[in-house]
Amino acid sequence: MKHAREIVTLLIAFTAFFGDHVVFQSKLSNSKLLKALADSAVHGILGCLSALAFLSNDTNYSTQTLMYNVMFCTLISCLIDVDHIFVAKSFSLQDITNTKSRGFLHCTSLWLFVTVSLLTYSYIAKKVNIFSMTWMLILAFSSHHIRDGNRRGLWMYPFGHTPPIPKYLYIGLTMFLPHLLAVIYRVTKPTRHTVLDYSDVVTLI
Ligand SMILES: [Zn+2]
Repeated sequence: MKHAREIVTLLIAFTAFFGDHVVFQSKLSNSKLLKALADSAVHGILGCLSALAFLSNDTNYSTQTLMYNVMFCTLISCLIDVDHIFVAKSFSLQDITNTKSRGFLHCTSLWLFVTVSLLTYSYIAKKVNIFSMTWMLILAFSSHHIRDGNRRGLWMYPFGHTPPIPKYLYIGLTMFLPHLLAVIYRVTKPTRHTVLDYSDVVTLI
């Protein structure tokens, strides 16, 4: 589609602005359940759009490849907040929303370590599907952590937290990063035409 890249990038900015307004400033934020659901939905939509923005930089993907990648990235973007349950040690929404510390899935340095290790392994072993899947993980955690970082900074264990990311920097990064990552992916991928087939990933693992 013509201008797909520009449209998706603008949708990222719109989702971040409008989504944050709904989650934190609208009447909906009076309900803990609705606030938690809306917050998770915004993370999921941003993950979905980040994957689309990343994939819009190459026209060689099949519809199936696009769908699998976008669904995977969306799912991981939402699932990162599951760690609130581990921190709260409870399924009660009251306990989950009142946690003071952050769960391990919100540790940016841990994700960086895991994804860089996966990229290095898959590059050396020429595991193209794992290499491609890892970029979806990077898109998922980066969009989630940068958005959360607007309020709480990035958790760079063992160095502590960065200051909160200013609003416009967070939105700019969320818009720009998928395109930068797509360039890095294109120049580093082990083989020229990478098609992600999750049935292959299962057999490879
Ligand atoms: Zn989160």
